[in-house]
Amino acid sequence: MQTALLSKQQLMQTAQQNMNLIQEVNYTDRQKLALTCRILFDHGHDAGLAGQITCRAEQENSFITQRFGLGFDEITAANLLVVDQDLKPLDQQGMANPANRFHTWIYQQHPEVNCIIHTHPTHIAALSMLRVPLAISQMDTCALYEDCSFVGEWPGVPVGNEEGIFISEALGKNRAVLLSHHGQLVAGKSIEEACNLALLIERAARLQLLAMSAGQIQPIPHELAKEAHDWLSTDKRNKVNFAYYARKALKNHQDCIEE
Ligand SMILES: [Zn+2]
Repeated sequence: MQTALLSKQQLMQTAQQNMNLIQEVNYTDRQKLALTCRILFDHGHDAGLAGQITCRAEQENSFITQRFGLGFDEITAANLLVVDQDLKPLDQQGMANPANRFHTWIYQQHPEVNCIIHTHPTHIAALSMLRVPLAISQMDTCALYEDCSFVGEWPGVPVGNEEGIFISEALGKNRAVLLSHHGQLVAGKSIEEACNLALLIERAARLQLLAMSAGQIQPIPHELAKEAHDWLSTDKRNKVNFAYYARKALKNHQDCIEE
């Protein structure tokens, strides 16, 4: 075996390099956003009309989002809206969810963020009722290790500017926020990254609730958790993961990528 004497570090590096050989699928941002809606719908993020997904649009200070009134399972690349910072649709059609206002604040204060997903999935919503931070103590969920802020205070429905400032500050340098008595928010450099994080945070909450009901959650070693965080958080891994979820979604939601 040629690789028997290589260190873990070397093996990790080789694996990351080899991952670049996996071919990427070229969806447009609108298609990716519509796919994300369907992927999240299939993974328990549906809560009626609650929740918003946005990404930056080409025009400065504008973003793409769902048309208010449609469920995640009805979103297509064609029926998404482009809205300005005041949530006004650029083509004057339809309306965005008024709670999108806090997305505007996050985009303003976090220039590296290109996609935001805010939802109320069942396990996150249940965990949010206990007013405890997200506990990361299992390998798969380490992408959120020390990367999820906790907001213990519930400021009410997030349609005001105060809530926008408050949530944006709570996010800080992290990629996720657990909002007590409310839900979750993730922010990614790409749509793929945000989609993966949204799936992950709901899974982490589900695991946490299961573990809490069976005993006491034990901490994991800090250095190993950081290593796993970085290993799981590369741009390429996000794209490969997203491509898999997209293929799965397209089996039942072929209509969502029609532009
Ligand atoms: Zn909400």
